[in-house]
Amino acid sequence: MSGVEVHADQLAEDYDLIVIGSGPAGHTLSMEYAEKRPMDRILVVESGSRAGASDAQRLAKVQATGDLAARYYPNHNQRRFGGTSMVWNGWCTPLEKAPFLRGEWPFPYEELAAQYPKAAEILQLPKRAVEKPEVPFEENPNVLYRPYYFSPPTRFGVDGPAQRMLDHRSVGILFSHTVTSLVMEGGAVKGVRVRSFASPSSPPLWVTAPRVVVACGGVQNARLLQLSLPGGGLPGRGLPGSGLPALGQCFAEHPHLYGAASIELDHERWLEMCDSGSDRVSHSLALSSEYAHRHGLQMVTLQLPGRTGDPQAANLMGRRRMVLRARVNIRAEMPPSAKNRVSLVRSRKDLFDQSMAAIHLEFSRAEIRESLVHLSRELARAGLGHVGGLPDSVGVTGGGHMMGTTRMGTDDKTSVTDSKGKVHGVDGLYVAGSSLFPSTGSANPTLTIVALALRLANHLTGQEHP
Ligand SMILES: Cc1cc2nc3c(=O)[nH]c(=O)nc-3n(C[C@H](O)[C@H](O)[C@H](O)COP(=O)(O)OP(=O)(O)OC[C@H]3O[C@@H](n4cnc5c(N)ncnc54)[C@H](O)[C@@H]3O)c2cc1C
Repeated sequence: MSGVEVHADQLAEDYDLIVIGSGPAGHTLSMEYAEKRPMDRILVVESGSRAGASDAQRLAKVQATGDLAARYYPNHNQRRFGGTSMVWNGWCTPLEKAPFLRGEWPFPYEELAAQYPKAAEILQLPKRAVEKPEVPFEENPNVLYRPYYFSPPTRFGVDGPAQRMLDHRSVGILFSHTVTSLVMEGGAVKGVRVRSFASPSSPPLWVTAPRVVVACGGVQNARLLQLSLPGGGLPGRGLPGSGLPALGQCFAEHPHLYGAASIELDHERWLEMCDSGSDRVSHSLALSSEYAHRHGLQMVTLQLPGRTGDPQAANLMGRRRMVLRARVNIRAEMPPSAKNRVSLVRSRKDLFDQSMAAIHLEFSRAEIRESLVHLSRELARAGLGHVGGLPDSVGVTGGGHMMGTTRMGTDDKTSVTDSKGKVHGVDGLYVAGSSLFPSTGSANPTLTIVALALRLANHLTGQEHP
């Protein structure tokens, strides 16, 4: 089969692999799989069009309760070739080790770390983004410098990445077609039902494959499974009929608090820590994963100015020096909670007469405050400065990071997939993307999404990392 765009009447009877979605997760998975198994036939089904924004975006509508309004979410699930990478900002850093130290992820951190170099290449990041993701302060190694490097940003639906997929001889892409359900029989996936936005009342097409990867983004991954599995998506009750009670639960964002806390910091020392070799980097302070784990803290990252800061001579901790005084942005981790969830709302349907996703998300400040108190104390112990408290007046918003709704794990009562991303109890059905994250750290997710997609491709092609 030659690569490129496939039209509905050109579909093969069956494929070796169907990948749903062409964002960072689906694109990386398909291309890596295709490189390793060039004789296999892969079909990528993409709800959006090749050309960019289209009416398909209406399918991303949700109902929302809690701290983020319904209008917030569709922007974070772009229905187009390349998915949400077509609007992302490109901030990247590896996930902190803390969630692994807590035993929340079902495999060793080293397996993820092994994928970061290739993931960094795909996202066009400098090598040191993954070779030196954090530098402890000599004065107190409980405090770290954490740089965030910027992808250009890589947009998977245009230029080189798009062309590579369109040119690959074993990958076919079906644009403007939406998978409305996964077909399962006897505990195994058999294929997908697909409908076209151009003719919504036509009967669905039926495409078969022994393996299907759901890579629709953090909200839609849960929704598609809920729409497809028996007993699907009862609000707040997971999936009692399917034996997957965790499906849709533990939805997580990264709380972002802008200009949230005040900091006073030894500027000269801070500049020594900051990477001055790149202008595509943002500088951050954080607690080490080991310290946070020992004290039961959630991860927080304080984003600080580097050379652009405006220091002044002042007394800081009994010594006169150049002091950086700034209000800092905070990006934080939120603890997994079953009350934050994606379920189906039976009374509101999309164009294909399918239940929309209902999202409930509540932020909590208590854990962020506690982490800030520790960070301030450890900074002071280093003799370098301190962080002020978090005023109640500071608002919290999200970062467009949709995580946790199909979490990986070993127990089918508390997780949805196994440690590779295979849905518990369904042979051949896999998930890719940040819905797999059992807990999130404070790092932006896309570098880790790409790393996990590479890891899954290795697994599916029998070329696992040692
Ligand atoms: C404004 C903004 C800024 C961001 N900045 C950053 C950042 O700086 N750093 C960072 O790490 N992350 C950032 N993100 C998040 C980042 O974009 C996502 O983490 C990433 O795109 C998720 O990749 P994905 O492939 O899992 O999902 P997506 O990119 O959302 O792709 C999902 C794809 O699946 C398709 N699809 C969905 N349902 C179906 C269906 N039923 N049938 C067929 N196709 C379907 C969609 O059309 C889409 O193409 C940002 C997001 C936004 C919105």
